[in-house]
Amino acid sequence: MQYSALRIADILNVATPIYPDALIDVLLTDSRSLTYPERTLFFALTTPSGDGHRYVAELYRRGVRNFVVRRRPDTADACYTDANFFVVPDVRAALQQLARIHRGKFPSLPVIGITGSRGKTTLKEWLHHLLSSSIHTVRSPRSYNSQIGVPLSLWEITPDAELGIFEAGISEKGEMDALRDMIAPTIGVITNVGIEHADGFASRSDKCDEKIKLFSACQKVVYSVDDPLLAQRAACAIQPERSITVSRLGDNNADIKIHCTINRAESCADIHFDAHHFHLNGNIKIPFTSEAALDNASLAIGTLIAMGMNPSELSERFTSIPNIDTRLNVIEGVNNCILITDHYAADYPSLMSALDFMNRRRTSGQHTTVILPDMETVGTDDVEHMYKNISLLLVKYGIDRIIGIGEEITRHACIFPSGNSRFYTSVADFMAAETPTDFGHSLILVKGAENHNTEQITEMLEARQHETVLEVDLDAMVHNFNIFRAQLKPSTGIVAMVKASGYGAGSYELAKTLQNQGAAYLAVAVADEAMDLRNSGITMPIMVLNPKVTNYHTLFSHMLEPEVYSFDLLHEIIEEGRRYGVKDFPIHIKLDTGMHRLGFIESDIDQLISELKSQDIVTPRSVFSHLAAADCPDMDDYTMEQFTMFERCSSRMKDAFPGMLRHILNSTGITRFPQYQYDMVRLGICLYGIPTLSDGSQNDLQPVSSLYTVVISIKNWSAGTTVGYGRKGVLTRDSRIATIPIGYADGLRRALGCGHSSVWVNGSLCPIIGNICMDICMVDVTDARCEVGDRVEIFGHNINVADIADKLGTIPYEVLSSVSSRVKRIYFRE
Ligand SMILES: *Cc1c(COP(=O)(O)O)cnc(C)c1O
Repeated sequence: MQYSALRIADILNVATPIYPDALIDVLLTDSRSLTYPERTLFFALTTPSGDGHRYVAELYRRGVRNFVVRRRPDTADACYTDANFFVVPDVRAALQQLARIHRGKFPSLPVIGITGSRGKTTLKEWLHHLLSSSIHTVRSPRSYNSQIGVPLSLWEITPDAELGIFEAGISEKGEMDALRDMIAPTIGVITNVGIEHADGFASRSDKCDEKIKLFSACQKVVYSVDDPLLAQRAACAIQPERSITVSRLGDNNADIKIHCTINRAESCADIHFDAHHFHLNGNIKIPFTSEAALDNASLAIGTLIAMGMNPSELSERFTSIPNIDTRLNVIEGVNNCILITDHYAADYPSLMSALDFMNRRRTSGQHTTVILPDMETVGTDDVEHMYKNISLLLVKYGIDRIIGIGEEITRHACIFPSGNSRFYTSVADFMAAETPTDFGHSLILVKGAENHNTEQITEMLEARQHETVLEVDLDAMVHNFNIFRAQLKPSTGIVAMVKASGYGAGSYELAKTLQNQGAAYLAVAVADEAMDLRNSGITMPIMVLNPKVTNYHTLFSHMLEPEVYSFDLLHEIIEEGRRYGVKDFPIHIKLDTGMHRLGFIESDIDQLISELKSQDIVTPRSVFSHLAAADCPDMDDYTMEQFTMFERCSSRMKDAFPGMLRHILNSTGITRFPQYQYDMVRLGICLYGIPTLSDGSQNDLQPVSSLYTVVISIKNWSAGTTVGYGRKGVLTRDSRIATIPIGYADGLRRALGCGHSSVWVNGSLCPIIGNICMDICMVDVTDARCEVGDRVEIFGHNINVADIADKLGTIPYEVLSSVSSRVKRIYFRE
């Protein structure tokens, strides 16, 4: 819907802008997502990762003419005579105000508000699936549920919407009021209250209370009474006539009693519901068996009843609920192509967010391909119009090649740009006509949804068919980054350590994310790693810790800033610099204050300063040192001496070179000695979600890397049988033994075999039996639920890297960086 600038000024309670007639229908909070400059209103938000005001000049150059800001920009960058500035005291509050007013224009629209610690997005998608065949629903895209995501979601409400479904997520006390005022839900659902995000809350009970605030004006609120604390807190806040309670545990006071019978053979569950007050009962079937799915089904039944519907009438829709996968995966493909797969939903909003994601991953000049299935048409009256919009969107994003797969999209082929589009009515036709070599070096988005069989395409383009993968959760990394960001002064820069290929997680995707997140520097160990980053389009400053290279030209020409730890190295770099004609090339001076590895010592400082002063080839950008025992409290005296010596030496350097930055803290140092943060800190292991302290101070970190494989074979053996090389695995009982394709060549250290460690299969720990082979090992699944094809976690959310390290007598750093490069890395964001 369009709003005039005049109307927006009115809503925000600010002066009439110079161009009151400008029309706006796109709200933008992240400059990288700009698509329609002329119709965009940009909000210069201040977030932990940056200040939106920094992007005003660039957006103006790219055609944006409407801005909500706290202060007008400096006219040194542009004169902005033809732009509207809405100057407000609080930009985020202005965004929320606009969303609130927009929502208020639809007072009779029923809106379901979903909150809870987990499962919000899945429940939202289930409800959308169940209801969208009969009514036009509008919902949050993906998991847009934050203080900023919610207003952007609400903005999508159009007059033809018949139902809204929005998520509300909070991470600290006091956030829910704003979300409630905007969403104004008529029906509320709470999925569950976990212990996650415990940070902002004193207790779980506090957290229940905060979540329940979403519902203060709801007509009906649906929740489960099987969680006694939630039941008790909800009963205090919500009158009985407004509550619709469900129970899977047979609670007689519940309004709706649910009984589930799992059918493992058919991977489905039969669900009986009995809602005696409503004189309703019936049976439905869902194509899932997990606990989370059964909980979801119970809440979905409760929500339908709250809306005055009979769930039995939707039984067919229940049986066809798709598997909700909100993740965008990034996979290395054949011939250096990169695949982005998105199986979330084949509709316009999710295509838009996938294209946005793709655009940010694109390096300059990189060829792009989008593979699209038939798009979801439920709730769309004009299919042709929808495909026209999609085509425009693809053109807007500068997509080089479009491949449509499906009968519907093929029928609309003529709508798409003719040059480089191809259409196939089925995946089989595509597979027959195309070969992987056509896709070399391209960045490829494979959009799909349940029933589109696009997995076959992904398989064709995937580089390696090895079934062991290292999954890297980029959201978790951003979360960890922001935890440290929040602990530091705003002016302190973060050097993100991505040496050893990002502690094994793979450096490019991480670097791209960290660059977007506002890290000050990346640091790698060797020049080759840095070169790879530059070649893939990373433009931010990069520090090279061990710059001993033969080819200094690459160092200079790619702006890779070396660490300098000795006079020999300094002389070599100056000499090479002179040969290549560089000037004022930034270098980083390493001091040895106690690690006794590399670095200048205190008695070198005078000579170092005078040598640096006597030339203009290199310029010292920073001076730093490294702590030897930051994580050993019993050696804090030693650490203090390091700090004292660093202060003494670095201040002499700084007197000589006033612009020089100083840094000494690594991850543990940041947590334990924040008073020594100086100008920058160097964040390593904790960025990857591995705590280095066991006192609870780092418990809110989330693991970034998870190593998974799959069961490729299962056999039953009787007691006494031996398994593997050297017959070292002797079975003491009749056993089920599963074989998994991971061995010591993948980084699963051989010392973990013979029962020394376990893997995680469907909720059970399964010991490794016998010796680990090069590419394979065997695990005992006698006590687990386990089938061929099941996923096996080696480490991740259930098995800690730190525990594996303990078993091996080493540290998590070694376990992470030992995952072999032949293991495929998959990066994803929710
Ligand atoms: C690896 C490294 C770090 C990061 O250490 P963590 O303990 O992983 O945070 C910091 N500084 C230097 C010089 C390093 O080599």
